[in-house]
Amino acid sequence: MAATPEFQHTIGKVAGFSGTSLHTGAKVSLKLHPAPIDHGIKFKRKDLQDEPTIDAKIENLKTVERATTIGEGSVRVHTVEHVLAALSAMGVDNAIVEMDANEPPIGDGSGQPYVEVIRRAGIVPQEAARKFLDVREPMHIESKSGAMLILLPDSKFRISCTQAGPGNRFTQYLSIEVTPAVFEREIAPARTFVYYEDVQPLMDKNLIKGGSLENAIVVRGDSVLSKEPMRFDDEFVRHKILDIIGDLALVGQRIRGHVIAVKPGHAANAELARALSKEQSRRAAIAMPKPLPPGEGGLGSDEIMSILPHRYPFLMVDRIVGFEGDTKCIGVKTVTINEPFFPGHFPGHPVMPGVLQVEAMAQVASILLFKLSKSASRIGYFMSADGVKFRKPVLPGDTIYIHAELTKHRGDRLAKAKCHCVVNDAVVSEGELMFTFLDK
Ligand SMILES: [Zn+2]
Repeated sequence: MAATPEFQHTIGKVAGFSGTSLHTGAKVSLKLHPAPIDHGIKFKRKDLQDEPTIDAKIENLKTVERATTIGEGSVRVHTVEHVLAALSAMGVDNAIVEMDANEPPIGDGSGQPYVEVIRRAGIVPQEAARKFLDVREPMHIESKSGAMLILLPDSKFRISCTQAGPGNRFTQYLSIEVTPAVFEREIAPARTFVYYEDVQPLMDKNLIKGGSLENAIVVRGDSVLSKEPMRFDDEFVRHKILDIIGDLALVGQRIRGHVIAVKPGHAANAELARALSKEQSRRAAIAMPKPLPPGEGGLGSDEIMSILPHRYPFLMVDRIVGFEGDTKCIGVKTVTINEPFFPGHFPGHPVMPGVLQVEAMAQVASILLFKLSKSASRIGYFMSADGVKFRKPVLPGDTIYIHAELTKHRGDRLAKAKCHCVVNDAVVSEGELMFTFLDK
């Protein structure tokens, strides 16, 4: 592994290489510079006045024809996907990509030259946690051209890709987990490939001056033209995966999810990146500390602790925000990264244990029982839980709204409560709990 996943990383020292840019055919030199935490990846146009920078973010996406172009104001950088794929997959979170032209050197049309320059620069950890975007619900993109991208929840960043050429020739499939080692060995060496009928008009118009059989494989009918032999039998699908990684790097956070891609292209990849980025800002807006409804009928933490015997770290409710009659109430628990269970559940991938959500439901229900019995001399014991379901992971930064409703309180021996936990308007867990009363 080139980088441990918990920390942000930048490169150790400046390193670069020169070559030809694909579209203009001009000579270009590229240099990677280290950058501070939370900087992300930025491109710098050294050849322009004031050396403007462009954030490698999906908001700055300009065009997706044949290659991915980003820009700010009138400044553009073309064909950013290969260098972004290499930085992202090799574990570089923060860096400046400085160039003296509007396009990185195309190299051999693969991600290899960028891996080599990153290797020379070195990868160093920084003192800040890496940002992850966990896919919580399936997402899907379908384009008019027949590209389909599905994104599923997963604890890793995985890509399963099917590529198919005209008439379904050169149909290839590959499924990988994106790690630095897998990228370097299996994906980075795969070169760009083009269909002759697509590039012929561009060559006629002189739009790909730097293009040659040294930096692209040309497919003409059933034959494959390239300067050197194929590097993999399924080199095409590998390059498609390279492009997906590069385009999704524009999200700016590391994705934990499984991309299933059928006939992907830059347009569909970018559309998925945009949808992810939207989801990311939606979550950021929700994660802002919401002012809780003030006291009316609720209970503060002191009042809760005068009712429940539980104490930190086992008190799973911060506040009761409201009662509805005697049988319903809602409690709130803000889940922070500092919860004692996160370091062990699980290292590098914090998820709140489901049983602790059940405990939170039991505590909120106990408060209802206390109100009902109006006696501090008896205590409700949690006896059983039925129909418990954990629907979605609860993550650091989430605020859980714990709903409890007493459905049965027969005599004064037994009580039942229907409970569910809500995060971001979605039910994350539910269950029916049974209590019995005993004298203290
Ligand atoms: Zn590519």
